[in-house]
Amino acid sequence: ETLDKGLEKSKTSFFSKLSKAVAGKSKVDDDVLDNLEEVLVSSDVGVDTTLKIIDRIEERVAKDKYLGTDELNGILREEIAALLSETKSGEETDYTIPTDKKPYVLMVVGVNGVGKTTTIGKLAYQFKKKGLNVVLGAADTFRAAAIDQLQVWADRVDIPIVKQAMGSDPASVAFDTLQSGVAQNADVIIIDTAGRLHNKVNLMNELTKIKRVMQKVVGDAPHDVLLVLDGSTGQNAFEQAKQFTAATEVTSLAVTKLDGTAKGGVVIGISDQFQIPVKYIGVGEGIEDLQVFNKHEFVDSFFK
Ligand code: GDP
Repeated sequence: ETLDKGLEKSKTSFFSKLSKAVAGKSKVDDDVLDNLEEVLVSSDVGVDTTLKIIDRIEERVAKDKYLGTDELNGILREEIAALLSETKSGEETDYTIPTDKKPYVLMVVGVNGVGKTTTIGKLAYQFKKKGLNVVLGAADTFRAAAIDQLQVWADRVDIPIVKQAMGSDPASVAFDTLQSGVAQNADVIIIDTAGRLHNKVNLMNELTKIKRVMQKVVGDAPHDVLLVLDGSTGQNAFEQAKQFTAATEVTSLAVTKLDGTAKGGVVIGISDQFQIPVKYIGVGEGIEDLQVFNKHEFVDSFFK
């Protein structure tokens, strides 16, 4: 139900545009396909992914000779499901972490304001609920507010946090956190990193340094580099994904704020265009409002 609520705006907007796109038409023809292309692009599916979907529908039109517009919903559903099934996104249904990695080190990246801290707090809560020992590291030392906000979440979830003064070396905070986590027998360590997209080289250097220093404590850390993207920014989210994946090896994605936006299609495009799994979606500000992204559930909910 949280997913349904989270996707409500996107659904309403998409299906009202879709019904306008086929108004007065009984057959899927070139006009309808043009309109559909606009609907998908304006729903933030992204141009490349939209063209892929349109191509597939064109093939079906060519084969079937006659496709009624009343079948368009079902066809779109099938094609989007097929497209998503080819991506790495949404394989999981639960907040599972590999048990053979202890502590499991999760490094979180993303620009300020995308919901990085909130996502870390929600994740920490979920992991703790599963009985795991979680430790947070406030390695976003650039802004005092970032450290304070993470502290608020640590208090709320009731878990330890490692921090230093604002302006201290993020790699040093990460190092301390891993040492402390190991000493406390932590199952999961979540490291918040600075959200400045200054220039690519700086970002790359900073993240590389944090990784290198963490590996002095946990040899194969980080086990996951989670990039948080704000779904409500639509094409900006694509752009940020491009920049971060160029700067470091991102291994999973979280797309936030889907509840407040009609741009839910962004999840489809991002899943398709980056061969990186979308693992989590944010569907509200509350502690429970993070979901493990599952592509089957997503399609089911969107086309219900
Ligand atoms: P950060 O700067 O990236 O750490 O961003 P924050 O975690 O502080 O979040 C920025 C704002 O977005 C806060 O007001 C959050 O409550 C809000 N936010 C985060 N995730 C979601 C979400 O999934 N849905 C909604 N509606 N708001 C969110």
